[in-house]
Amino acid sequence: MSDPVQRSLADTVHTPFWSDRPDAPEPGAPLAGEVEADLVVVGGGFTGLWACLLAISEDPTATVVLLESDRIGHGGTGRNGGFLSASLTHGLAHGAARWPAEMPLLLALGRANLAEIIATAAAEGIDASIEVSGKSVVATTDVAARALPGLLALHQQWGEQAELWDAAGARADVASPTYRGALRVRTGSALMNPARLAWGLAAAARRRGVRIHEGTRAVSVTRTPTGVRVSARGGAVTARRALLATGAYDPLLRRLRAWVLPVYDHVLVTEPLTADQRTALGWHDRQGITDVGNQFHYYRLTEDDRILWGGYDAIYYWGNQTDASREHRDASHQLLARQFFETFPMLTGMRFTHKWAGLIDTTSRFTPVFGTALGGRLAYAVGYTGLGTGAARFGAQVALDLLAGAATERTRLRMVRSRPVPFPPEPLRSAVVWLTRAELAREDRTGRRGPWLGMLDRLGVGFTS
Ligand SMILES: Cc1cc2nc3c(=O)[nH]c(=O)nc-3n(C[C@H](O)[C@H](O)[C@H](O)COP(=O)(O)OP(=O)(O)OC[C@H]3O[C@@H](n4cnc5c(N)ncnc54)[C@H](O)[C@@H]3O)c2cc1C
Repeated sequence: MSDPVQRSLADTVHTPFWSDRPDAPEPGAPLAGEVEADLVVVGGGFTGLWACLLAISEDPTATVVLLESDRIGHGGTGRNGGFLSASLTHGLAHGAARWPAEMPLLLALGRANLAEIIATAAAEGIDASIEVSGKSVVATTDVAARALPGLLALHQQWGEQAELWDAAGARADVASPTYRGALRVRTGSALMNPARLAWGLAAAARRRGVRIHEGTRAVSVTRTPTGVRVSARGGAVTARRALLATGAYDPLLRRLRAWVLPVYDHVLVTEPLTADQRTALGWHDRQGITDVGNQFHYYRLTEDDRILWGGYDAIYYWGNQTDASREHRDASHQLLARQFFETFPMLTGMRFTHKWAGLIDTTSRFTPVFGTALGGRLAYAVGYTGLGTGAARFGAQVALDLLAGAATERTRLRMVRSRPVPFPPEPLRSAVVWLTRAELAREDRTGRRGPWLGMLDRLGVGFTS
């Protein structure tokens, strides 16, 4: 085995790094029998966990039940890069293009949301290793480098602390010969350990009396005269209200299939850096890093100085398939490994200890879809499109507002009231995904947005960043 990429992946375990720990909590007991509640939440990711915690904090006497088909954090919540962003709009460029009039409020709500997450973690004694280190956006091509001044102006316009570095400055900060410049953004984002945050939120919810049933897949939700009934294998919950927080997984509510496209994103984690490697890299601020482009990598250091390296190769499977076998795609992990060693050639010879894939709930406008069904008894918040570790708390608040029938500054937002353009059914769905992906890659190479992407922009569809 002479190829360094093959060698680097030879002993890699296929499991998320974050939850591969001896101190992972024991699973909660599955639902057994008939249960009554004020609120039943389906899905134990960040949206569902925040919904439980916020609901029980608002009314400590309420009966709140959470049903999770696998383990807490089984979805994107336990598999992400741990980038925690203040943005509710999938970035500044996207928000400014879609909802310019609401941007000041969206920014204020997003910044408050991030602050609340950090404050809750501290108040609940959750050791989620939150590092408020901001991020760098690096350019690795000439096309990308030409985009940096515009990005700087955008960040300054919306009040973020950002500075532009040329190639030498970027490489002096983090030693990659591929860098042609960088935007260092010091505000608006942090890093964290997502599994420990999710486990901590679950523990905080349990302490307040929330009943969490793991290994409990909800199979249907129906209306009753006074509320809803969520049926699962092994039991059912009859409740006044239900909140659907199932991310990219096959939704209990059929209409969500038109709005949410499940896309697999792939991640690698290296063995810990040696002291010499760590010194050679620089990276003293330990900030998260992404590269400019539609197809981008995200990478960061873990607490024990490994590098988490993910993104780039997002894969959609015909007919919204989400079965676990799709998490195994060697070609994507090999591509990621090759790109890692191109970025950090001095680390050639390193091994990856963990690899995994996770589902991203993509909408055509890259922000979630919120709404109600069953006469207002059920609310949903899904579709964070890969930027949801922070926004999920906001999504949970919106869904709770909707269930309460409360008109708030959140529910009045156009982003909340409007719906994304639906994806067409197959076979058109796959064709649209394929064409859009090819055109986004072409834009990354040429810097030109072709007619197809231009048309999607005019329809309010797609990614502007
Ligand atoms: C590889 C990857 C990297 C990412 N990196 C980042 C990042 O760095 N920063 C960022 O902001 N965002 C990132 N994201 C996105 C982020 O993880 C999600 O937006 C966020 O965790 C969404 O949480 P959620 O609770 O809405 O969904 P999920 O975490 O997907 O939770 C949904 C839960 O519902 C459960 N479920 C589904 N159906 C049922 C059912 N019928 N009955 C019971 N339970 C059910 C699932 O098992 C799952 O646990 C990433 C996502 C992936 C996949």
